Amino acid sequence: MVRTWFAHSLSLLAPMRKWSLWSAPKRVRVLVLSVDVFALLTAVWAVSFSGYERRSFVDLVLLLALSVGFQEISGKVEKLRNQIRAIRYIDMTSVWTFAAVIVLPASLLLLLLVVLRLHLWVKVNRPAQHAPHRSLFTAAAIWISCVCAHATLAAFPASHPLPTGYLAIVAVFAAIWAFTLANSVLVFGAVWLASPADETPPFSTIWQDSFLEISTLCLAGLAGLALIFEPWLVILVVPAMVILQRSVLVKELQQAATTDSKTGLLNAQAWHQVASIELERSMRNDVPAALMIIDMDNFKLINDTHGHLAGDAVLKAVAGVLTDELRAYDSVGRFGGEEFVALMPKVDALDALAISDRILRRVRELRVATRNVGVGVGDLSASIGLAVCPQQGSDVEDLLHIADAALYTAKREGRDRVEYSFTG
Ligand code: GH3
Ligand code: MG
Ligand code: MG
Repeated sequence: MVRTWFAHSLSLLAPMRKWSLWSAPKRVRVLVLSVDVFALLTAVWAVSFSGYERRSFVDLVLLLALSVGFQEISGKVEKLRNQIRAIRYIDMTSVWTFAAVIVLPASLLLLLLVVLRLHLWVKVNRPAQHAPHRSLFTAAAIWISCVCAHATLAAFPASHPLPTGYLAIVAVFAAIWAFTLANSVLVFGAVWLASPADETPPFSTIWQDSFLEISTLCLAGLAGLALIFEPWLVILVVPAMVILQRSVLVKELQQAATTDSKTGLLNAQAWHQVASIELERSMRNDVPAALMIIDMDNFKLINDTHGHLAGDAVLKAVAGVLTDELRAYDSVGRFGGEEFVALMPKVDALDALAISDRILRRVRELRVATRNVGVGVGDLSASIGLAVCPQQGSDVEDLLHIADAALYTAKREGRDRVEYSFTG
């Protein structure tokens, strides 16, 4: 009897064997499992030790109704946001969970979080079935962040649920800070550990996303205050959330429409627009500018030898070299295939040659890891064609034409070199 029950319980765990977590590096597995276990222990503590008040149940029901209702009416927008996300999808449910941090005891907060995450998982995240551990980790990280924020609020004198006077705003900000800090440490930690050693983790993008999280938490603070003083006023948060969500969607769509998904650089069309504006500005300010086309040498051979996925990894690594070597205000794009373009304001021919040499050296030194452990792609090289403004033209099309001709010369003369054909 016990044996059958045990075997049955084990068979329920069988799908876990397919989780991609088990093939992740050991450091990632340790972090994910530690965070999950710690979240579980604090959840047990919350259920065992936190007290209840009748009023808390009213707040719980209101928050549950609003959160599930909001997710239902905004489901399509959230699904779209999840599909076009660049790095991290912020689901904005923290508006309800953080309001709950302020007004609910830990056990009811946990209940709200579980219902919300399950609902979100069914509505938005379902396709990530091969990696449920990610949804679990996200939920665990949010719970731990909530516990940190809860503890911060409780540390303020006479806080039930908030201190009075100006201390109320100090307490809410301190709790927002604790929540954001805990969540960022866990998410940044996971991204950092999961990034291959030779790749820079995409921290700047995550940091940009944090502003959305902080705006959501500020609205959550207002929702919490409304619940304390006049619970029905919390409904006023919904239109503000709808506006915030739409404005974020517009920004995310704009980013998706201008970004090359493989490399994270500008796509050809967006680069063309940005480069035209930059070139006009350079002409107006009477400063030089240089345009560069970079084409990988014998790239077809890399695909043929190591496969397309390895080829993609090389393109990503080269994009990383370009971002590293060029300044933040240079516009860098993927022109197509294995060709990149850059427009560099305030750079003359001599500077452009020196920058090109640096890029070529970095490409030669690149060694890109492949999925086959121990096999890396090396011996890479690129060819560069240059054109400079104003000597060779002041229009993007003209400069592209000239740089392309120079690139052709570089290829013909043996590749792995930079060519600049102005002789005047
Ligand atoms: P050359 O030195 O003359 O530039 O030779 P090449 O092989 O680099 O140039 P060619 O134009 O003959 O081939 C370009 C190759 O780039 C062919 C194509 O399969 C590959 N390619 C284009 N886009 C991608 C991509 O997004 N990913 C991968 N992996 N390969 C790509
Ligand atoms: Mg090529
Ligand atoms: Mg090419």
